[in-house]
Amino acid sequence: MIVEVINTGTELLLGEILNTNFQYLSRHLNNMGFDVLYQTTVGDNAPRMKQSVLHALERADIIIITGGLGPTRGDITKDTIVEICGLECYLDLDTWGRIDAFFTKKGSCVPANNDKQAMIPVGAEILQNDVGTAPGLFICYQNKYLILLPGPPAEMTDMCEKQLWPLLEKKFGSQGIILSRTLHLRGIGESLTAEKIDDLIIEQSNPTIAIYARHGEILIRLTAKAETRQIAGAMLDDYEKLIRKRLPQYIYGVDDESLPAILGRKLLENKKTVAFAESCTGGLASSLVTDIPGSSEYLLGSAVTYTNEIKNRLLNVQQETLQEFGAVSRETACEMAVGARKLFTSDYGVSITGNAGPGESENKPVGLVYIAVATEKVVYCQEHYFHHSRVENKLRIALTAISMLLNKINQENDLEE
Ligand code: ATP
Repeated sequence: MIVEVINTGTELLLGEILNTNFQYLSRHLNNMGFDVLYQTTVGDNAPRMKQSVLHALERADIIIITGGLGPTRGDITKDTIVEICGLECYLDLDTWGRIDAFFTKKGSCVPANNDKQAMIPVGAEILQNDVGTAPGLFICYQNKYLILLPGPPAEMTDMCEKQLWPLLEKKFGSQGIILSRTLHLRGIGESLTAEKIDDLIIEQSNPTIAIYARHGEILIRLTAKAETRQIAGAMLDDYEKLIRKRLPQYIYGVDDESLPAILGRKLLENKKTVAFAESCTGGLASSLVTDIPGSSEYLLGSAVTYTNEIKNRLLNVQQETLQEFGAVSRETACEMAVGARKLFTSDYGVSITGNAGPGESENKPVGLVYIAVATEKVVYCQEHYFHHSRVENKLRIALTAISMLLNKINQENDLEE
């Protein structure tokens, strides 16, 4: 069944609040197998709200409207729906009793205009509000369904959990299941990813494929709709296999598996430890590694070595290296990685030195970064350029360093096999 969600409230249109109600509703409805195909945001304006609802009635089976059920003149949702459907209202004594009890519990009387919330359209099913005063409503109109929910997120979610989801299940039965899986890729761009699976994208119907870029990585989201979770899961498995064949070396994780989590797992499996020496990322790479519970098993330490003097004093980067090649150089990065490894007596030393921007330093261009990984026997170094804001660059650089170490560990494991 096709669902349209209409979120009302001028503050949403002004960008003063985030539309978290839509996110909550859409996630749940999709999980239940409903097709949420439209979302409209409309201000507290009767003609425009009416227009939005009439438009939704043309293209959706179920229209869920949030907000505007309060007691004030600005709360116009119920009146608008009553007008569209040509319904009469009556004073529902049960609802009035609940509102009365709500205020009595707070030690006050029901304000005069709260009576309005107990006026219920004839034929509407009431969704009780256990958190606030405005009841929700379920109205059947010309074989379509209009569902009115209060705007405050705590009231809306409580009403959905306790009443709306069971009611939708009862009325419309199983809508099948929609399951998504996200593959995480690094080391490849959006266009090349799309090119490699172009035929799958063109032919897609179920599962569907969507490609996104985020913080220097590519996400491929697969979504399958099926009768059962098992069937949807099997459809995703088949598609994942197809995609892995096309992009074998780039996929590093699935769904919530983050780079630091995968690195942590690899280090534990291999019984190896790591230490960082960071300059332009200010400790972000090691901070990301410590986001993973249990990281003290493999992260021995981290040195934020911002100045040349500290690079020399803590990591033993040679004065000559710094003078001849500068802090942002392949040579310095290598000595930093070796220094970190020695300082913390770890198996791997990872270093980051670069210019995160926005201005040039040492005549080195903005975004130029060297990342090195030192093992017992060798030091690897890569040169990268990052072209985003300073903060975004820092995140991308830190993730690239983590990714580089992960690749090195994978290569070592491959060689051993
Ligand atoms: P009230 O009885 O509080 O007037 P209502 O049902 O009339 O409730 P609104 O007045 O539209 O709802 O919204 C009340 C508050 O709930 C808003 O000020 C806002 O903080 C929050 N809210 C409303 N809609 C949303 C939304 N879509 N996403 C997140 N928060 C929302």
